[in-house]
Amino acid sequence: MIEIKNLNKSYQIGEKHLKVLVDVSLFIQRGELVSIIGKSGSGKSTLLNMIGMLDNYDSGEYWFDKNLINNVSESDAAHYRNKYIGFVFQTFHLIGTKSALDNVALPLMYKGIGKKERSIVAEKMLEKVGLGDRIHHLPNELSGGQKQRVAIARALVTNADLILADEPTGALDSKTSQEIMELLREINREGKTVLIVTHEAEIANSCDRKIEIIDGQIVKSDE
Ligand code: ADP
Ligand code: MG
Repeated sequence: MIEIKNLNKSYQIGEKHLKVLVDVSLFIQRGELVSIIGKSGSGKSTLLNMIGMLDNYDSGEYWFDKNLINNVSESDAAHYRNKYIGFVFQTFHLIGTKSALDNVALPLMYKGIGKKERSIVAEKMLEKVGLGDRIHHLPNELSGGQKQRVAIARALVTNADLILADEPTGALDSKTSQEIMELLREINREGKTVLIVTHEAEIANSCDRKIEIIDGQIVKSDE
């Protein structure tokens, strides 16, 4: 599904040239549950944003389902994201003034799906993540774990094949983290490809495969 070859990315800050990703190569098959583990500042979010087509790279190749993704226009990137990719973030990125139901329904609006159908599908997704009794709650009326469940429902609602999660348990206590990981594993068992970025060994170990990144370089990728 994802093939990255010798990818490089750097930032220019004043006089300084900061290499963030150095010759990164990796391969992720459809249906895998993979973690990328590394310390803060090692380039994990940069790599994930690249895979999610939120950002470009300087050199190398990124293939998504046999399509070379390179300098794609913002509209093409948005098309890919809407169709194939769901995102989950550490800080949830929910819209505070919208109910759980409306947050989950939002990606369907961008797909041009009518209001009634949006609500039906969004409610079904919230039931799936265990929040069928919280659909009209606002984000600030939900616990951290519940907010992350809403975000996961939103990532799933368009039936994306690939779920990208950037430190999805980073803001949660350890018991809630385990519950969220169990939900992500269940989603993977149902056929989604799931890629989780984390700095926590325990989270990485509960995935099927681990890719380790140090200072922008992949140091270990177990089979
Ligand atoms: P991680 O997610 O592993 O903590 P990041 O990918 O966020 O790491 O960042 C990797 C490095 O790139 C850090 O040194 C960070 O300061 C730098 N960086 C990230 N984004 C930018 C940016 N937009 N401009 C300049 N430097 C950046
Ligand atoms: Mg990060």
